[in-house]
Amino acid sequence: MPEINLNLTNKEIINKYFNEITCDEYQESIFKGGQSNADQALNNLDIHGYSKKRNNVYPTEKRGSSYLSPYIRHGLLSLKEVWNHVENFEYSDKNKFRDELLWQEFSRHLYAIIGKKNREFLNFYVKNDPNDIVNSEKMNCISTIDNELVSTGYMVNQTRMWYSSHQMFRTNNNWLESENYMFQHLVDGSRFANRLGWHWVTGSQTGKIYGFSKFQVKKRAPNICNKCELINKCPIEDWPKVLNIKNKEIQIDLNLEENFGPQSTKTSNEMPEYVWINGESLGDDDPAMSQLPDLPVFFIFDLNLLDSLKLSTKRIIFLLDTLKEISEKREIKVYLDIPENILVDKKFASTFAPVPKYKKITKIIKPTMEFPAKRLVKPINFYPRSFSSWRNKTKVSL
Ligand SMILES: Cc1cc2nc3c(=O)[nH]c(=O)nc-3n(C[C@H](O)[C@H](O)[C@H](O)COP(=O)(O)OP(=O)(O)OC[C@H]3O[C@@H](n4cnc5c(N)ncnc54)[C@H](O)[C@@H]3O)c2cc1C
Repeated sequence: MPEINLNLTNKEIINKYFNEITCDEYQESIFKGGQSNADQALNNLDIHGYSKKRNNVYPTEKRGSSYLSPYIRHGLLSLKEVWNHVENFEYSDKNKFRDELLWQEFSRHLYAIIGKKNREFLNFYVKNDPNDIVNSEKMNCISTIDNELVSTGYMVNQTRMWYSSHQMFRTNNNWLESENYMFQHLVDGSRFANRLGWHWVTGSQTGKIYGFSKFQVKKRAPNICNKCELINKCPIEDWPKVLNIKNKEIQIDLNLEENFGPQSTKTSNEMPEYVWINGESLGDDDPAMSQLPDLPVFFIFDLNLLDSLKLSTKRIIFLLDTLKEISEKREIKVYLDIPENILVDKKFASTFAPVPKYKKITKIIKPTMEFPAKRLVKPINFYPRSFSSWRNKTKVSL
């Protein structure tokens, strides 16, 4: 049961514990973890012009993106508080931005319902792809966005779409492997939003694919084309050809509590002695942490999971920053182990996380006290075939 010594520097921790289970050597991202950095990012948030600038790519100064995603993904900022924070911005910017927050909530709802089945195509699948395979090596657009991903741990939404469309429709690569590569490097990488992004691009929910061609690069990042040695023989001059797409059905279990966890705090005859936190909810406002402020906390880096994912050190460093900040406020122990080994003999409280790993563990080792997850939209008991069908049937609960 290696307990991680948080007094070491991040570099020492990475070298001592994570060397074999990450895909790169020590590398910081552009994000600093921790509640104080999340709060500062939110306080500095300015979405003025967001509706027009959101899709800008390069130069980076022209972007409208908020760069909040790693904080949202790890529960340092809740969707609700970000939603409320933009109340006084102009309607068009506020509306567009809030729509994106809803996409994030939608991805969480969908994942809560379909879980690991999100590895499959959803309502439609690509029967065959008539597009030619393209040699991506000299394509300045693809190498530039790939470099940004690997060196910063971030991509704007637009380049995520370019990258996934290119991998999906113009290469021979297995989409799940390409998705995994993106997931490994994104500091905000999540199986809910990342997979949903890929599904959206592949038309797996709606039957409409997102095609990537020179057109978008010229429009959103013209210098990339100007500096590309393939400028006069661009292999993606045209849109991808229309694909042969077929309907399919996905089998879903709609049990509300199994999918979304308890609606109110679940207690037992005993009192918890610890709070267990995980990567989904690391903020000071995490329900279990904030309701039980005097209990010691523990966090477990899941050894087997990390070994199979081989995440970038960029993400581990972000998490370490966050855990170190918690250690300045209360007692915390951090392990690198198999979660069940640590949890088995503990009376712990936790906040429900609507992800398969949490569900699997707590099916066997029950928390002594369990808090409902924080949400922007109430849990659903239907399968949403698309974002708009979900949006039409749900209401934001503020
Ligand atoms: C192929 C692909 C993969 C993606 N992978 C991820 C991922 O792993 N993790 C992740 O959080 N998002 C993912 N997204 C969604 C989106 O691209 C990112 O959330 C966004 O780019 C993050 O940057 P930002 O915070 O500056 O975004 P902003 O534009 O400032 O948006 C504010 C917030 O809204 C949410 N949001 C914005 N767009 C989307 C969207 N399309 N879907 C879901 N939520 C959204 C995010 O929480 C984001 O932080 C992916 C999208 C695609 C197309």
